[in-house]
Amino acid sequence: MPEGDRAQQESELLKQLLALREIPCPVCGYNLRGIESDKCPECGAKLDLRVGSSDLKLGLWIAAILGVALPLGFGVIMTLLFSYIVFFERLHGAGEEYILGLLLLLTIVEGVALGLLLRKRKNFWRNTIQYQRTIATMCIGVSAILTTIVIAVLFNI
Ligand SMILES: [Zn+2]
Repeated sequence: MPEGDRAQQESELLKQLLALREIPCPVCGYNLRGIESDKCPECGAKLDLRVGSSDLKLGLWIAAILGVALPLGFGVIMTLLFSYIVFFERLHGAGEEYILGLLLLLTIVEGVALGLLLRKRKNFWRNTIQYQRTIATMCIGVSAILTTIVIAVLFNI
């Protein structure tokens, strides 16, 4: 089907849907029932027809991603900082290499975890809430323990 025909068909389907239902504009909240265009009359936003799923719950997915992405960001920044200290300021022997190794380990573990989460996201979304909760808890828990160890070593706690 040519792109123009498809767009015309989707526009007609959208108008049919909006003739039957009270659906708010996703941008401004204006009630779109009965409009004759594929643009919101209130704010001018272009409207699309899409399929969603109430089974797709992103809360645990976002928690798992943040659980590894935040320590990954910390690891990358601190690794760069300590690399500068070790290689350019030439501070050796005070444990900087050991701390750099720990930071690299944190960065690699969190990077691999983030890569796996992104690569296996459809498997995550398809699985049960219990499975998702377990994975999110593991991501946050392991990351919190690793980050706490690194921070404790950094500040000699
Ligand atoms: Zn609007």
